[in-house]
Amino acid sequence: MEAPDTGVDDMTKLSYLHEPAVLHNLATRYGIKEIYTYCGNILIAINPFQAISHLYDTELMDSYKGAQLGDRSPHVFAITDVAYRAMNNEGKSNSILVSGESGAGKTETTKMVMRYLAYLGGHAAAEARTVERKVLESNPVLEAFGNAKTVRNNNSSRFGKFVEIQFDACGQISGAAIRTYLLEKSRVCQISEPERNYHCFYLLCAAPPKEIEKYKLGDPKSFHYLNQSSCYELVGVDDSHDYLATKKAMDIVGISVEEQDAIFRIVAAILHLGNIAFALEGEDSSVLEDDKAKFHLQVTAELLMCDLEALETALCKRNMVTPEEVIKRSLDPLGAAISRDGLAKTIYARLFDWLVKKINVSIGQDPDSKCLIGVLDIYGFESFKTSSFEQFCINFTNEKLQQHFNQKPGGIISLLDETCMFPKSTHETFAQKLYQTFKDHKRFVKPKLARTEFTIVHYAGEVQYQCDQFLDKNKDYIVPEHQELLSTSKCSFIASLFPSLNAETPKSGKFSSIGSRFKLQLQQLMDILNSTEPHYIRCIKPNSDLRPEIFENVSVLQQLRSGGVLEAIRVKCEGYPTNRIFSEFLERFSILVPEVLKENVEENVACKSIMEKVGLSNYQIGKTKIFLRAGQMAELDGRKAKLL
Ligand code: ADP
Ligand code: MG
Repeated sequence: MEAPDTGVDDMTKLSYLHEPAVLHNLATRYGIKEIYTYCGNILIAINPFQAISHLYDTELMDSYKGAQLGDRSPHVFAITDVAYRAMNNEGKSNSILVSGESGAGKTETTKMVMRYLAYLGGHAAAEARTVERKVLESNPVLEAFGNAKTVRNNNSSRFGKFVEIQFDACGQISGAAIRTYLLEKSRVCQISEPERNYHCFYLLCAAPPKEIEKYKLGDPKSFHYLNQSSCYELVGVDDSHDYLATKKAMDIVGISVEEQDAIFRIVAAILHLGNIAFALEGEDSSVLEDDKAKFHLQVTAELLMCDLEALETALCKRNMVTPEEVIKRSLDPLGAAISRDGLAKTIYARLFDWLVKKINVSIGQDPDSKCLIGVLDIYGFESFKTSSFEQFCINFTNEKLQQHFNQKPGGIISLLDETCMFPKSTHETFAQKLYQTFKDHKRFVKPKLARTEFTIVHYAGEVQYQCDQFLDKNKDYIVPEHQELLSTSKCSFIASLFPSLNAETPKSGKFSSIGSRFKLQLQQLMDILNSTEPHYIRCIKPNSDLRPEIFENVSVLQQLRSGGVLEAIRVKCEGYPTNRIFSEFLERFSILVPEVLKENVEENVACKSIMEKVGLSNYQIGKTKIFLRAGQMAELDGRKAKLL
């Protein structure tokens, strides 16, 4: 009898390397709960959507320690072990880049990488073990405040994360730094069916009675920021248990009891704030809608420890500065609600930043560390019916990570900043500027009939962006009246989240933009990553129902394509030992055929021209790189040497 087909654990071993064979192999393995498969040195991880017994046991960790890649079955421990050993042996920093679409399993994978690193680089003595414990316990804390149920994932991270784990000369963990990117602020006040707000709100509503009383909480259904969706509970999640677990994790990462009280007081205050509703008074002013609104105003003021009247004024009125005096202008009910939501988002974002900073201080950085292992968990490529500024930033990141070093998205952010600084700008004028500036760009398209939309041809496909909210979302702006109100809170924790403007920014009033800050953060991330030896884990989401044992071919194939996995397979198998990013190749060899730079052609075409003129064939052009046969690089270098 023929043995059952169990597939191959490395796809480069497949005898026929076409898409159907790759898919069949992954599906076969998935069917027998083998979720990991190599593709050369890339690890493919297919989300099982169920716990697989013993897959992450300590005994298994033991067995991967020091084993060669390929000696044991594919696993995230194996990749991590290679990175750790490379670091120790070569004294060089390494990084593990985990990518995939929402719900593919990036965050779970990242946690396993961190757990295994803590196991390898952990301390024997219990009292020295605090660093790695803090590193691991930072996860539940950040998840409580930065994760939420979305359509795609019941525990979706709404921020990007890069954890840098530092090691001492003995290979033991000596410090760590966590960097986060682009928390989704809008979720705090706006959610839609069947999603949820951030977990922390529901956890707190399920806290023990003493806390519920203290924060005047109750049924989550009674809060506007939660009841815009009818989803309150998650299958398999006990919010009251998670509330206590989160507090325990906060203890471990060094957040004091007083700080925890202030943090949850703020979370409760945001819920009450959301229930302050406004009604029209006179022609265009607003007042609190009813007694219920008054009650929530009062509780909000108590919890934020700020003046009740000042809070009401800050919500309903704006200062107009004229040369003579400052006039208080009333906001209409819609304006007041926008003001209220803006306040809620700002407080929440500052709270999240505080948590990250606090965790970093508490874990501590090792200034003497020479080597680190970076672990990146960042949202994959996104394309929605309505793609906005957030998707733009996410896709920009992915382009960078895939090393598609084109300058275009950076150019769009600069243009956006310029537009934001010009007082009369609208999203229409922004769109017009985009059309003018990028009309000849090969990856920029103005859709027919569109007036405020633009399309970018990303490496993973085309995405159409709606400009409507780009300007607002790019402005990192706090209403001065809100700033004033909270910087004078009697709660020192809250006041410290809102340091007075002059101390914070010497050039107060200077325009600050989310886009350019993100661009800078991303550049810093790239600088770190470029100084490390990268290892790749591609997470795949086998179905959109988030259910075990279902493997949807079309969607998996699409993910393999956009993650560059298929390209990697092809190249590996065909024996191209050398590759270069187009721009690097051109920089080095365009001297052989100087005309190519003058012609306004795509980089890949320019690379091809050089190879043709030099008379080399059998090379391959990939999406971003040129792949050379053995000896071709030497030939090119030889030609160049003759010229010089
Ligand atoms: P992402 O970060 O890519 O959006 P997550 O890591 O949050 O995705 O994974 C989504 C869900 O899939 C998890 O909450 C968990 O239920 C399940 N999952 C992911 N990886 C695994 C795994 N290795 N084993 C079991 N379940 C997993
Ligand atoms: Mg995640």
